[in-house]
Amino acid sequence: MTTEGHDCVLVINCGSSSVKFALIDLTREAPRITGLVECVNSPVALLTWKLDGKKHSKPLPDATLTEGLAEVIAVLPADVELIAVGHRVVHGAEEFSGSVIINDRVLESLERCSALAPLHNPVNIAGIRAAQKVFPELPQVGVFDTAFHQTIPEHAYLYAVPYAWYQEHGVRRYGFHGTSHRYVANETARRLNRKSEETSMIIAHLGNGCSACAIEAGKSVDTTMGISPLEGLVMGTRSGDVDPALHEFISKALGWSLDRVMTALNKESGLLGLSGKSNDMRTLVEAAAADDPHAKIAIEVFAYRLAKSIMSLTAALSKLDAIVFTGGIGENSCKVRARTLEHLQVLGIEVDSSLNAVNGESNTGRITKEGCVPCLVVPTNEELMIARETSTILKS
Ligand code: AMP
Repeated sequence: MTTEGHDCVLVINCGSSSVKFALIDLTREAPRITGLVECVNSPVALLTWKLDGKKHSKPLPDATLTEGLAEVIAVLPADVELIAVGHRVVHGAEEFSGSVIINDRVLESLERCSALAPLHNPVNIAGIRAAQKVFPELPQVGVFDTAFHQTIPEHAYLYAVPYAWYQEHGVRRYGFHGTSHRYVANETARRLNRKSEETSMIIAHLGNGCSACAIEAGKSVDTTMGISPLEGLVMGTRSGDVDPALHEFISKALGWSLDRVMTALNKESGLLGLSGKSNDMRTLVEAAAADDPHAKIAIEVFAYRLAKSIMSLTAALSKLDAIVFTGGIGENSCKVRARTLEHLQVLGIEVDSSLNAVNGESNTGRITKEGCVPCLVVPTNEELMIARETSTILKS
């Protein structure tokens, strides 16, 4: 299929050693090409891409981030009208409540936000600087994971710690996965044939990182992640909520530094820590089916904690029109959805097991019986949302 005359946005999601990219055709609202530059600055650096359904790869030994991105240009189809680069940026703090065209002033602000997201923002900034070198003629737009949550009210975003910590150091809950929550919220309202402004829902984004979000009239009003993406739900390798006293306890018990404790909570906990086996839900579901007790308990803790968070988020809503599952686990694991919803019987929810078994593959994605709060599976599409945002910002 040709995209002749169709404007495209190159969406870039830069991680510590890899860059995901997707070329989104704005007219068809579909990816023309998707790919990954991985293991940059190493002998096994590799560019892989999928174009018109076919997979390709090219080794790029010792390529830097900029060199890797420069190689992406060569694989873009020749007929593409590239109008901008849209960047996923993790932390925009209180400085960014929407997407922005990136200039020197914005980059300075992003550097400031890095103190709040030391694992993510520096690599996002590196991705922006590399893209500026590779595509000097194109506008670069930053789309923030935190921006959608800037509507959360003060009583929901403040921690009960000395207020000066908020005033002087920005200590508050920010929330993440905002691009996904926003996309799924719009899509859910559309599927329910309701106006966004009149719809209240809770969305569970369950991927390697997991967060739930309460959305009232199209706006985020509370979410489970906090000052960092470590708070809230059980995740692939992240613990989610723990008693803050745990840090001191385990550091004394094991003689660990604070850094070592943080590494354990970020990288060795969650599904991986509980199961001792894997951070990957698919692997755990298979192991649980083969009676592995550790895999079973990891799934049980994951589902129970999710159900508990969904119930607590109802406090932020005036009514509940839908509970929505998205992300790799939310979209694909009927077992996790069923176990979670079993804990929500107090809401009168009844799962339709045949709809759940096929991941709600009907018009609406509904997996519950008629007459109770609709629970839906709605696939997320962060790349499309970033491309739409980029285009909107350019027009404004
Ligand atoms: P994401 O970060 O959104 O790509 O989601 C990754 C997570 O989705 C991993 O834990 C995968 O194991 C999980 N996942 C993907 N497909 C399935 C599946 N069919 N059943 C269970 N989990 C799945």
